[in-house]
Amino acid sequence: MSDASTTTLSYVTPTPTSPWGTYLAQIEAVEPYLGSLSRWIGTLTRPKRALIVDVPIEMDDGSIAHYEGYRVQHSLSRGPGKGGVRFHPDVTLEEVMALAGWMTVKNAAVNLPFGGAKGGVRVDPKVLSRKELERLTRRYTSEIGLLIGPQRDIPAPDVNTDAQIMAWMMDTYSANVGATTTGVVTGKPLLLGGSLGRVKATGRGVYFVGRELAKRLNVDIKGARVAIQGFGNVGSVTAEMFAEAGAKIVAVQDQYGSVHHPAGLDVAQLTAVARQPGGVTGYRGGESLSPEEFWATDCEFLIPAALEGQLTASRARVVKARVVIEAANGPTTTEADLVLRDRGIVVLPDVIANAGGVTVSYFEWVQDFSSFFWSEGEINQRLDQIMTGAFATIWDTHLQHRVTLRTAAFIIGCTRVLQARAERGLYP
Ligand code: GLU
Repeated sequence: MSDASTTTLSYVTPTPTSPWGTYLAQIEAVEPYLGSLSRWIGTLTRPKRALIVDVPIEMDDGSIAHYEGYRVQHSLSRGPGKGGVRFHPDVTLEEVMALAGWMTVKNAAVNLPFGGAKGGVRVDPKVLSRKELERLTRRYTSEIGLLIGPQRDIPAPDVNTDAQIMAWMMDTYSANVGATTTGVVTGKPLLLGGSLGRVKATGRGVYFVGRELAKRLNVDIKGARVAIQGFGNVGSVTAEMFAEAGAKIVAVQDQYGSVHHPAGLDVAQLTAVARQPGGVTGYRGGESLSPEEFWATDCEFLIPAALEGQLTASRARVVKARVVIEAANGPTTTEADLVLRDRGIVVLPDVIANAGGVTVSYFEWVQDFSSFFWSEGEINQRLDQIMTGAFATIWDTHLQHRVTLRTAAFIIGCTRVLQARAERGLYP
């Protein structure tokens, strides 16, 4: 069979730095390690299904606006689809496909019983009123109702979506099926079947695996310097966790600008100003940095926690960190990954680094099914156990095959997906 028939799709045009292009390059890198399972590689290079929907809503001024929405189920081989929904003006089908692919690998790398999925709406939610946002969320949920369900595909928060949006999604789905169905989304408010610990789970998980990597590299987190790009839920909680462990958050960048202080920034103050107009630039007591200077911050840990494709090859050439921890999905381009590898900078990849969020989503889904809820201590302890165990397996695989941590994580994840695929067999 020709290469084109296994990797080329007519409906997207990936480039070497675009999200799906980056994802495909990562799959190409793992293929030599998959043995006879590589026969099934097309399972990973094509999403199982992709739904594009029109989301029309009435605006507060009476006009009608239309938005483009997507839900992609990349793989259902290991279980129902699982992955967040993002609202962002730059969302495209190609981006959602890549994010869904990374969910497949992530869920398998930490051994959660899920496939991979993702959704998104191409919209800037910041310019919508609360009522418009609610109408958008409800109409989008109804349109993707064809695909989602507690045993089929379970959305969750991602960029610009939160517990309130999950509550509207759960309510809309429940109204459409005629029964309250808490397990259809995760990341819900506590009162509606949400889980303790979910809001902070991604940042907490970033810290857990960062701590494990630091042990292997003999880096002391106490006193270590950390630079973080993105100060939303993931970036701010990651900062809090590292600061609690004695690290200094020396630089932070968000969409408005960057602040820096070699002695460390105050995380509580940063978190408060980050929610105000002007973001982290409202912080008093730091110096500002140009967008490019941020990447050259003197630090031990550099943590991209924003969007894809931020760490480009030219930025990778100036990085001074010892370790890059990918709290965002897909922040490093393929070329940048090679630059970092050649410079001896260790990259802890997204598919393990930010898996804490979906891990506690899994706990939430299980709790919803049994209607029996766990304590926060139990949740955080189980999260630590799963993340630490998954990291150890990836670390050992990286030593065994002499590959990067990313390829090691992909070896574990993709092998599990393709084993499931092979054991299920093809229908008909
Ligand atoms: N959006 C998060 C991620 O990228 C969480 C997904 C989930 O909880 O399903 O991993």
